[in-house]
Amino acid sequence: MKTMVSVVVPFYNEEANVPLLAAKIDAVFAGLADYDYECLFVNDGSTDGTRAELDALAGADARIRAVHLAANRGQSAALVAGIRRARGAYIFILDGDLQNDPCDFPKMLALLQEFDCVCGYRAHRQDSWVRRMSSRIANRTRALFVPTGTRDAGCGSKGFRRACAPHIVAFNGAHRFLDSVLVNAGFTVTECPVTHHPRQHGVSKYGIHNRLWRGLYDLIGVRWLCKRYVTFEVEGEDGHG
Ligand code: UDP
Ligand code: MG
Repeated sequence: MKTMVSVVVPFYNEEANVPLLAAKIDAVFAGLADYDYECLFVNDGSTDGTRAELDALAGADARIRAVHLAANRGQSAALVAGIRRARGAYIFILDGDLQNDPCDFPKMLALLQEFDCVCGYRAHRQDSWVRRMSSRIANRTRALFVPTGTRDAGCGSKGFRRACAPHIVAFNGAHRFLDSVLVNAGFTVTECPVTHHPRQHGVSKYGIHNRLWRGLYDLIGVRWLCKRYVTFEVEGEDGHG
């Protein structure tokens, strides 16, 4: 019996990228004999042809599920919407703009046999100098305030066992603190280098204002959350809630 993997992807105005990413994911799983997959493609209130692309794919392939948010609510909201609907034993998340590459899934799956969560880091990041520098500052600052298991919080490629899913708290910016909340909740987190491509289609949705400054502000909230977070074991049940 094959093990199910869920692939959750947020899309906001990524019409050109949708079919290309779906084909890449399918090609990767064609080479993984032990795994089956489902895609949760989340349309975050797109105003271009993303909805139509997703509906066409979902109509043609039962493994693809289109989830449409009623309005644009941000990358974190789209990811959480998909994660909550995922049915796989393992859940992968990645950006929908082809900057991340599903070709990293096999080595991440291998690591998930040993660890609860694996976070990618962009070994050869294909973004501008300003983007790379602001990430470096944010990552260094982050490590001073919150628990962390990784060097590249903003990398979109991550995978985790489904037991982690209920611990991913929904707030705007949560996708940048996934490793923090999971380490803090007692899960084992590792990292591995992942492929990163320059964006070919569509535009980035972030600038300095909605990434760096908000990210620094979020540190206060995540620090509080980590300090006050509670986990518990229920008699007769595996794992912790
Ligand atoms: N995204 C989203 N909702 C938003 C902004 C972004 O779902 O409000 C998605 C976007 O479509 C992409 C991913 O989040 O799949 C990462 O966004 P982007 O590529 O713009 O980020 P960058 O690579 O520039 O950090
Ligand atoms: Mg991108």
